[in-house]
Amino acid sequence: MEISADFEGGNIEVVAIDPGGEDRDSARLRIRKDGRADFFQWFCFKAAGRPGAHWSFAIENAGASSYPRGWEGYDVVASTEGPGGSPDAWVRVPSSYADGRLSWSFAAAGGEAWFAYFAPYSPARNQALVAHTAESPLVRHEVLGRTLEGRPLDLLSVGQGPKPVWVIARQHPGETMASWCVEGLLERLLDPQDAVSRALLQRATLHLVPLMNPDGAAAGHIRSNAAGTDLNRAWRNATPEASPEVWFVRERMKATGVSLFLDVHGDEALPYVFVVDADNVPSVTPEMVERRQRFVSVLEQTDPDFQTRHGYPPSPTANLDIGSKWAAEAFGCLSMTLEQPFKDCANSPLPALGWSPGRCKRLGAACLTAMLAAL
Ligand code: ZN
Repeated sequence: MEISADFEGGNIEVVAIDPGGEDRDSARLRIRKDGRADFFQWFCFKAAGRPGAHWSFAIENAGASSYPRGWEGYDVVASTEGPGGSPDAWVRVPSSYADGRLSWSFAAAGGEAWFAYFAPYSPARNQALVAHTAESPLVRHEVLGRTLEGRPLDLLSVGQGPKPVWVIARQHPGETMASWCVEGLLERLLDPQDAVSRALLQRATLHLVPLMNPDGAAAGHIRSNAAGTDLNRAWRNATPEASPEVWFVRERMKATGVSLFLDVHGDEALPYVFVVDADNVPSVTPEMVERRQRFVSVLEQTDPDFQTRHGYPPSPTANLDIGSKWAAEAFGCLSMTLEQPFKDCANSPLPALGWSPGRCKRLGAACLTAMLAAL
């Protein structure tokens, strides 16, 4: 068996490949740290060998990763088509976590397969999404600036309505479910036969940054950019040197104003879709709370994968370094972090797929109904 991670979003190191005879190879692996930070959790690699081989894999440093609880009840995703193939080709492979090692087996009928923490979404796929979306007459595309490694930070603005709505995704580059969610949101938003989208675009202009951390996404990071910065801890004191991605977006948000801010993420440990509210910011108003309640109750009815029973425990004080807290305080707007699982929804399980690109996309589309209600 040969293993490679030398592609956009790839991340794995091979400790050893032990030939077991009769094409029963087993690979001992480690996840690389984010380049300039100590985070690690994301992995994505290709394995190739003889058709019909039986492979086994063990990630030996899983227990030392940033979120070791993420491996409990978690199943690896695999595809025989790879990152450029169909999103629906990513299926779950039963996996086990014990003694700090994540392990699984795979029957490689065709002799090659890709394995990842979640269905990957590369900067190249994001560029294709941006180019395709920008063809719509409803859309204005701008490059807000360049990342530390020179990649474009794309902004898509849709519609002409008076209320500015901001949606950003992938501050944490390993949370690829955020990109799938935004892809589903955009597809529905640009559907001229969708009455919710048309009504929303009469009331609002949507500003979308579908990939906030292209350098981290290219390098296969879980959490940081090329400078080692966790962007979602950089909002209060963003700088062009350490967090240019946040700097550019924050400046533009100040120029447009913000009526609604949605920051799309994934959570390693919790098997639920949920929002983190900003009810604990110093300047919260009853109107902000009421609009958030309307958003979540409509989203819960529109997409039952989303739920409100499970989430982070409430905190008395807000960390204004976090994007959604900073935006709530700066603009007095409805502002939320949307969290999706790496595992499955325990309230609505689908074990063969777990949380999947298709479910992410439907959640993104459903968010438009909730936004319309909240505006
Ligand atoms: Zn995140």
